Amino acid sequence: MNSEAKRLVLIGNGLVGMRAIEEIVARAPNRYAITVFGAEPYGNYDRIQLSPMLAGEKDFASILLHDHGWYARHGITFRAGQKIVGIDRAAREVVSESGIRAAYDHLILATGSMPLMLPIEGAALPGVVSFRTVADVEAMQKAAATGGKAIVIGGGLLGLEAAYGLRRRGMEVTVLHLMPHLMERQLDPVAGAMLRKDLAWRGINVITNATAEAILGSNHVESVILADGCEIAASLVVMAIGIRPNIELALSCGLSVNRGIEIDDRLVTNDPAISAIGECVEHRGEVFGLVAPLYNMARTLAARLCGDHSALYKPAATATRLKVTGIDVFSTGDIYGDEDTEILMFRDAARGIYKRLVARDERLVGALLYGDVQGGADYLDFIQSRRSIKAPRDLLIFQPEMAA
Ligand SMILES: Cc1cc2nc3c(=O)[nH]c(=O)nc-3n(C[C@H](O)[C@H](O)[C@H](O)COP(=O)(O)OP(=O)(O)OC[C@H]3O[C@@H](n4cnc5c(N)ncnc54)[C@H](O)[C@@H]3O)c2cc1C
Repeated sequence: MNSEAKRLVLIGNGLVGMRAIEEIVARAPNRYAITVFGAEPYGNYDRIQLSPMLAGEKDFASILLHDHGWYARHGITFRAGQKIVGIDRAAREVVSESGIRAAYDHLILATGSMPLMLPIEGAALPGVVSFRTVADVEAMQKAAATGGKAIVIGGGLLGLEAAYGLRRRGMEVTVLHLMPHLMERQLDPVAGAMLRKDLAWRGINVITNATAEAILGSNHVESVILADGCEIAASLVVMAIGIRPNIELALSCGLSVNRGIEIDDRLVTNDPAISAIGECVEHRGEVFGLVAPLYNMARTLAARLCGDHSALYKPAATATRLKVTGIDVFSTGDIYGDEDTEILMFRDAARGIYKRLVARDERLVGALLYGDVQGGADYLDFIQSRRSIKAPRDLLIFQPEMAA
């Protein structure tokens, strides 16, 4: 390591922060003396693959991206299991819970987000878990080992992946969803109903328009009470109602924070020595829950920290996919539309296929594919590039690759 190297500290050993570090060491291996702090005790792992891990389709070893040796081989000081509890911006120093200090010339905050927990009676009972970390998956695996009934609160992407994983592990699973149809941010009522049917086929029970009012149990979860008075027995309750940016550390050191840590197109906070990327940030009023735009942030930040000051972060449309084996869903952009949009639609109920494209002023603004997701990347490309669909219109729904 070059003794003149500037000190770069990363807080948050997750997907996005580590993507930035990977890019920096690939571009300029000796430019920085790097220290990484991670609250979790492991090397960097692929959080997205926690769903297949819960379902028993992958194990932890196969989702570990970098073991401790990787950090050592790249000359990176790795502090695993060290949660940072303070940032002294005047002294440019961070301190961990156990008192480890590290000075920085530049600091990257990539603290991710926190699962939201419903503030209802019984939410703190043993047997109530979130779905964010390896520890959460291990708790669910342990609960599922004895079978029994599970309730998942939240019929969004994460909740359904949790439900599928627990079902695969032999639990009887009920999903409680507040809204009239599943994954309402990504699916319209037609696709929501198709999904519900496909989940029923897999033995997953869904109750929509369901408000969980209380969780009951003396020493452990025993049941969930709904607003309509119905009581459902369960020995495990998974809360998957959403996430919020993890901003505590940024707040505690006086950085500018709204819903997330506020950053500009350069990914810098209101302190020029501190950048922030990943789910902990808010960029131009937007907060994030999918990794693709965040990897762009990581790339942009790496480029800037390696001297390319022209690199700026530009938001782009992203797509959602559900990781439930055998259920193909693709959704991107505005899938509902309004009075000024036009809908192109195809439905083959017998084959379980549904496609809905939303266009505004001859440009695609949203695409929803259920049952057959071929062409998803082409639709995303149409949306991102804002190309006109006027000429290829006839091909668009059946042969998007030809239209592209
Ligand atoms: C089960 C599951 C499935 C998902 N599936 C998908 C998917 O299919 N597609 C998709 O695009 N996205 C998916 N996501 C979302 C994706 O995982 C996130 O967008 C991504 O992980 C965000 O990366 P990040 O680095 O910002 O945060 P994280 O990956 O959460 O990393 C943040 C890290 O910072 C650490 N940390 C926080 N505070 C401190 C501190 N004070 N000191 C030290 N360390 C700290 C945390 O322990 C954590 O390890 C899924 C998420 C989950 C939980």
